[in-house]
Amino acid sequence: MEAEIITIGDELLIGQTIDTNSAYFGQQLGGIGISIKRKTAISDHAQAILDALAEAFSRVDLVIMTGGLGPTKDDITKKTLCTYYQCGYRRDENVLAHLAQIFEARGRLMLETNQVQADVPALCETLHNAVGTAPGMWFDRNGKVLVSLPGVPGEVYHLTEERVIPKLKAKFPLPTIQHRTLVTLQKAESLLSRQLEPFEASLPPHLSLAYLPSFNMVKLRLSQTIQNSDIPESDDIDRYFVLLQQAIVEDVFCLGDIDPALYLSKYLINNNISFTTAESCTGGWVAHRLMQAPGISAVYPGSLVAYANEVKSQELGVDRAIIETYGAVSENCALAMANGVREKFGVDLAIATTGIAGPGGGSKEKPVGFVYIAVCTANEQMCKSFRLFGNREQIIQRSSNAALWMVKQLLKLPTDSAA
Ligand code: AMP
Ligand code: MG
Repeated sequence: MEAEIITIGDELLIGQTIDTNSAYFGQQLGGIGISIKRKTAISDHAQAILDALAEAFSRVDLVIMTGGLGPTKDDITKKTLCTYYQCGYRRDENVLAHLAQIFEARGRLMLETNQVQADVPALCETLHNAVGTAPGMWFDRNGKVLVSLPGVPGEVYHLTEERVIPKLKAKFPLPTIQHRTLVTLQKAESLLSRQLEPFEASLPPHLSLAYLPSFNMVKLRLSQTIQNSDIPESDDIDRYFVLLQQAIVEDVFCLGDIDPALYLSKYLINNNISFTTAESCTGGWVAHRLMQAPGISAVYPGSLVAYANEVKSQELGVDRAIIETYGAVSENCALAMANGVREKFGVDLAIATTGIAGPGGGSKEKPVGFVYIAVCTANEQMCKSFRLFGNREQIIQRSSNAALWMVKQLLKLPTDSAA
């Protein structure tokens, strides 16, 4: 099943509003097996709307459009749809009652300009908009469906999820799509894909693997598409998901489409492992990401951002001689920071970061993106250097992912999604 999106509004064309609605449709419709073949953004002009509709319906049987449904004169979508479908208006009593209710609740008088929102093209079925005044409209003529929604993103989400998707599922024979996702850290997408060549070659046609890389993290999503909903769902996806994990067992950080920091913080809570961080180049970003899980206070007393050398030595007890001899960006300093902060907060596990986030401050030996990360417990410690790339923000994000990976190495974390 294929569809096209038409977004209407002068504000979209002059860049005043970013068209987030069509990205949203890509996600939502993709999730129920409808692929978007084209997105068109047009101005609030009748001819532009008529042309876009005719062109889209020459290619596909389903068109979703947003915008131009406000009560003001610049919004002309409804009027234009009357022209397109060669019909007049009808007053929708349900929409009128909903409008009356909204105005009464707000203690405002309903004007004639407001009431016209209840006038809709006679050929459409209205879709109740519980979070706004303009209803959605569903046209079904000659095997072609048009869905017209207001532009306000919150209303688009509500109408799509509550009204449009159930109607699309009832109207069209859509495939059943299932996904299984896992998260890897620290291995490049190209290396993973080389390692997964035999696995990918073994996949039957109804299964596919997608790589979603970001900042030293790659999410792998296995998708299963079963075309005929009458066929009982097979367990293929779960069987192949296990094979996928086995093929890259060393690289899997956690299962599920989740932030690995959230996975780790839940693991630390569930296993009662208290932790802290001493952060130089990441400025508290590792701590911030690890605080996502509710209940983290049970295992997390606090952290220290130790940016200046004096803070590293005064607050964490890093020997000044270490900084003078090896520099603040060194293995010795990172380890001293981790051990120092662990003792300071009296916890089980500590993470320390020290490096050059840039854009300045790099040298030949220690270029921008050169970062040491140390992790330690009472009995073990580990430190590694990383050569990370990107701008300052990206280096900080990559460093934090490297820190999560280091904790996994030290604690020999399992990868079950239940943590
Ligand atoms: P309208 O239904 O044309 O009155 O649109 C109402 C508001 O929704 C506009 O002022 C925009 O701020 C917003 N909007 C319209 N179209 C989009 C879109 N494609 N993506 C995101 N926001 C939009
Ligand atoms: Mg508009």
